[in-house]
Amino acid sequence: MFAKFIWLDGELVEWSEATVHVSIHGLHYGIGFFEGIRCHATDRGTVAFRLSDHLNRLARSAAVYNLQLPYSTEQLARACADVVRANGLGDCYLRPIVFLGEGPNPLRAPLRTAVIPSEHGPLNGHPANRGVTAHISSFQRITANSLPPAAKATGQYLNAFLAQSEAIRSGCDEAIMLNPDGYVADGWVHNVFIVRGGVLATPPPTSGALSGITRDSVMALAAARGVRVVEENLVRSDLYLAQECFLTGTAAGIVPVVSVDGRRIGTGEPGELTGSLTADLHRAIHDAVRPDWLEDVT
Ligand code: PMP
Repeated sequence: MFAKFIWLDGELVEWSEATVHVSIHGLHYGIGFFEGIRCHATDRGTVAFRLSDHLNRLARSAAVYNLQLPYSTEQLARACADVVRANGLGDCYLRPIVFLGEGPNPLRAPLRTAVIPSEHGPLNGHPANRGVTAHISSFQRITANSLPPAAKATGQYLNAFLAQSEAIRSGCDEAIMLNPDGYVADGWVHNVFIVRGGVLATPPPTSGALSGITRDSVMALAAARGVRVVEENLVRSDLYLAQECFLTGTAAGIVPVVSVDGRRIGTGEPGELTGSLTADLHRAIHDAVRPDWLEDVT
């Protein structure tokens, strides 16, 4: 147990009391929406990185499924601050989650809401700095006409689970998924970037990529460095032939990819721009480089 309190349906409850019934529809049908948000201790107190952007994405995820969050984004921002304050947290990871509760009719069941703190987020221990090996998954990324990838919905992670467990079984660190047209979409919980001819390229959301908040931050930081950034459909050989390749996500930050399907990327070491952007992102998360990205949660 990392913290004493969890925020559940409008109040702070003891960690061990924050439980739900096995009959909730969110469990049976995978109907729910969530976010992962990084917080850091700073001189001015604990700050959350792009809190409003995360909570707005949570609301958009529910809207894709024609559902409305039970709390406004302002109320959820206060809930995040309540969790940080009540537990006296500095560096931590917050997981707001909204899921379908109990009731005779799953289509009418109430939505439940929690904000769960954890120490590191789900990907602690990732061998990110040395770089990771990736492979193209045999599982395709979900599509707009099945499970719209624009939403960050709980059930959609069955797709991620299939891809990533296959990657691990085949001796690889990370899965990268293509869409049914053969274009690169996303990692299992990451966005994908390459550097080619000095240009930073990443698949557009229409490929099936989630509109990642780290993705957006990295694109802005690269542009601020004077690097040309393009959103463009990529095929697997664009990854094979890239000078640099990396993955992005809230929990892992920037993860250098040193090989894809056994092909060495660039020098086989984390690339130079990858390293510079990692330093830029670290500064942006910890210092007020972009003051609008750091929101107080104390
Ligand atoms: N793609 C997928 C499928 C994800 O689950 C995540 C994690 N939220 C990302 C990309 C990265 O998004 P973010 O940078 O907002 O964490």
